[in-house]
Amino acid sequence: MPTKKALNHCIKILKDLVSFQVLGGQSNLEIMDYIISILNDAGIEFHLIPNTDLTKTSLLCRIGHPTDGGVILSGHTDVVPVAGQNWTTKPFVLTKKEDKLYGRGSCDMKGFLACCLASIEVFKKSDLKRPVYFAFSYDEEIGCLAGEELAAAVHHKYKEKPAFAIIGEPSMMHPVVGQKGICVLETTVNGSAGHSSRIKDEVSAIHVSARLIQWLEKKMDDYASGNIKDNRFNPPHSSIHVGKIQGGIAPNVIADKCTFYWDVRVIPGHDVRDIIKEFDVYSQSVESELQQKFPGFSIETREDHPPVPPLGTRNDSPVVDLIKKIIGNHHLQTVAYAAEAGQFSNEGFETIICGPGDIAQAHRADEFVAIEQLEQCLQMLENLAEEFSK
Ligand SMILES: [Zn+2]
Repeated sequence: MPTKKALNHCIKILKDLVSFQVLGGQSNLEIMDYIISILNDAGIEFHLIPNTDLTKTSLLCRIGHPTDGGVILSGHTDVVPVAGQNWTTKPFVLTKKEDKLYGRGSCDMKGFLACCLASIEVFKKSDLKRPVYFAFSYDEEIGCLAGEELAAAVHHKYKEKPAFAIIGEPSMMHPVVGQKGICVLETTVNGSAGHSSRIKDEVSAIHVSARLIQWLEKKMDDYASGNIKDNRFNPPHSSIHVGKIQGGIAPNVIADKCTFYWDVRVIPGHDVRDIIKEFDVYSQSVESELQQKFPGFSIETREDHPPVPPLGTRNDSPVVDLIKKIIGNHHLQTVAYAAEAGQFSNEGFETIICGPGDIAQAHRADEFVAIEQLEQCLQMLENLAEEFSK
């Protein structure tokens, strides 16, 4: 187990990190300045990967010599809002109660960032034969918006090639090899208004939406009975869900507009773009059919944000061997939440999710991380330093 001093150092950093109220979508420059000050004190060079208007930035740094085969430790600096939640502690003041630390982001996922930053001395003291990288992002909570660019930047900023990525999302320090990809979409149907008695002469946007939604549900049933399956997930196939629909003004008025919001969750090996393309083809056929009746008829679908790719690390991947050595846990899991892991995997890094805290505590009031989880994470990083010194 890590020393009391190392643990207290980690908790002090976590306290500071939690005090920065960086919600997804907001500037993270202040929290990055704080992280940079820690890197500066340790004499570690870093790269920034800012957004176009320079209000947010990701950060990359390396500890150890430039050699192939290193490991990237990755986490995000933003958190979800606290508005409307019934907190019994101050969400942006890390509060210790018994063996738990409460605060927004304590679990998702500033706890992991604090463990990484608190382990700098351990990494520096070790005779690392392969380097350790930190890759910290922004805007993860609103659709993993910076992860793709950050993962790609590893290739641009460094000549050597890291082999592994560990994404420290809350997993109770269990190794997670799979995560479904997700895409959130909004479809608007523009029909023609009129008295409901004229339904045969007009085009109801609600009726057409119902037709499109049925098509989506049928598509999911096809996946359920089809061949593209990954039994590590529940359900083992890609799924489609319509979660919100709005349109119409009264029972006796034909609706000229209806919008529905849906998501697609794909298993590894299933490209969400293919599903969207198929839906577009069907939409176009409905469009040309109904434009005969009402020339102004249209169906528009837009993505809420670019699709987040799935993670499908093989159970025999070398990163699984590494993680088994440094956490001693052989029980591989998959998770239902989206994360930046698929984006790192797509860049050719063998990727796994493993971090302190329970996802069940994330995003809710009185979010906490158990101190024992931080200890386990610090121990994992110490073991990593030892393993990489061989
Ligand atoms: Zn997270």
